[in-house]
Amino acid sequence: TTQPEQFTFQAEVSRLLHLLSHSLYQNKEVAVRELVSNASDALDKFRHVALSDETVRDEAELAIHVELDEEAKTLTIRDNGIGMTRDELVGNLGTIAHSGSLDFLSKLSGDEAKDVSLIGQFGVGFYSAFMLADRVEVRTRSFQEDSAGGLLWESDGTGNFTIEPLEGETPRGTAITLKLREDTAEFLKPEHIKHVLGKYSTFVPYPIYVAEERVNEQRPIWVEPKSQVTDEQYEKFYQYLSHRSDEKPQWHLHLAADSPFQFHAVLYAPQSNFEKLGFGKSEHGLSLCAKRVLVESDCKDLLPEYLRFIYGLVDSADLPLNVSRQALQDDTVFRKIRKVLVKKVLDHLAKMAKSEPEQYLEFWGEFGSILREGIAGDFENRDKLASLLRFRSSHDVDGKPISLDDYVSRAPEDQEQIYFIGGADMASIRNSPSLEIFKKRGLEVLYLTDPVDEFVAAHLGTFQEKRLVSIDSADVKLPAESDQQKAESEEGDDEAQSSDGDEKKHPAGFEKVVELFQAGIENEVEDVRATELLADSPCRLVTPEGALSTQMQKILAMSNA
Ligand code: ADP
Ligand code: MG
Repeated sequence: TTQPEQFTFQAEVSRLLHLLSHSLYQNKEVAVRELVSNASDALDKFRHVALSDETVRDEAELAIHVELDEEAKTLTIRDNGIGMTRDELVGNLGTIAHSGSLDFLSKLSGDEAKDVSLIGQFGVGFYSAFMLADRVEVRTRSFQEDSAGGLLWESDGTGNFTIEPLEGETPRGTAITLKLREDTAEFLKPEHIKHVLGKYSTFVPYPIYVAEERVNEQRPIWVEPKSQVTDEQYEKFYQYLSHRSDEKPQWHLHLAADSPFQFHAVLYAPQSNFEKLGFGKSEHGLSLCAKRVLVESDCKDLLPEYLRFIYGLVDSADLPLNVSRQALQDDTVFRKIRKVLVKKVLDHLAKMAKSEPEQYLEFWGEFGSILREGIAGDFENRDKLASLLRFRSSHDVDGKPISLDDYVSRAPEDQEQIYFIGGADMASIRNSPSLEIFKKRGLEVLYLTDPVDEFVAAHLGTFQEKRLVSIDSADVKLPAESDQQKAESEEGDDEAQSSDGDEKKHPAGFEKVVELFQAGIENEVEDVRATELLADSPCRLVTPEGALSTQMQKILAMSNA
């Protein structure tokens, strides 16, 4: 017989394994969820090849078996899915292939308590087996090998693993055996395992058996009428899709249509935006099904990028399924379903913004930074998206961001522009001399502390026919002063202030002052002009008509540096 071949885990895997096996993290149950979800993925993959290749077709039921051996103290999760070849074993169970996991690892700090609570929220997949076991054995045979092609992968999770051929016949698929530790012996009890499976794996689309007994008989909730689905079922389905244990979604939408095309969908917004924690761009979390059978998880084309934070499942009988991703994307029904989904989500948000503004602000606080990307990309829904934007403003109350509709509804009727100012932070914005006249006249100015918001403003261009204008640009036009304001400003100032319009009344000899400045700094600036837009400061710098705002120029200069 051949000697087992020795391998060393990739350094990142060793770090992760160390963390997992030494963690005080209470929720070890997620390991079962991860292994069952891998078994389910392997069954999906097998079903896919079997559909396209008659030679691998198989009459046996595709299923997951959970086997408990009290004497040997082992828990085995077995599937008859796609299996793994030797190279796949080395690649899949020796390295971390997913950029998401690598990102995750690079973010791990020494603060173990914090790190392990994050582990629960991230699918760390196969390696979570070592949260329960001090030794893991994987027996597998790929569908590409004949019955003698079985392999055994073994490791105690401390840095090395071995692979050797199995003797005799091995059934197709994978069996993962966990040698449980003393402190995880609870997982040998059928009641406990059933409880854990009931919690996390009810929606797995293949039968799961614990000692001959099927434990997941859940009908798919998305095809049920809304009234038949309980809050708890919606929550569990969310947790199943998102791998976020013990988290409730912020909201959900349950959609159904019969004509002109048929589809069912359940969509969820999570509580928190992982991108804000610096975990890189999130993956799309939509699953696409045809007649209840999963076709594609993490479907990237059913919702636009700016809704990538949404989890959910879409099921349609009207989609062509044995086609390439490109062909699917170009399919009329597919495009129509996508259009409906986007509309429903945006309508839902608009409704929420109106009837539950506090809740909407909470949503905006988490996902606004992603949602606003849509302004640049989704021309068709720009108006709807524009109404969903929120900004800090000179008129906001308790720092609660306001909408452009709020802004327009309280602006003077003859105000033709929406004013904004960009700056690194609230303090520097509030001290800007450009703000003086607006403060004095009580005109509202949006405060854009996030540079991306200036890009959003630039892309949006106008809102309800009012141009969005940076107040440190020469494009700014002010509405007429009311008679009262005029009287006040004339009273309060000895130097004559201008009336409205372009004609400016400046003290005698002021033209000469302007000329002197022009001559003095002509190489530094494009022009020097008298202005009525200052209240207390003697001068200010503005950008020429149509140019980038000062703040944008600073940002660009920084990124070019
Ligand atoms: P993920 O599921 O996110 O890909 P995992 O760490 O859970 O990451 O699994 C790593 C890889 O190992 C999987 O992508 C798959 O290729 C392989 N794998 C794990 N479990 C099985 C299984 N039961 N059958 C076949 N392949 C598996
Ligand atoms: Mg997995």
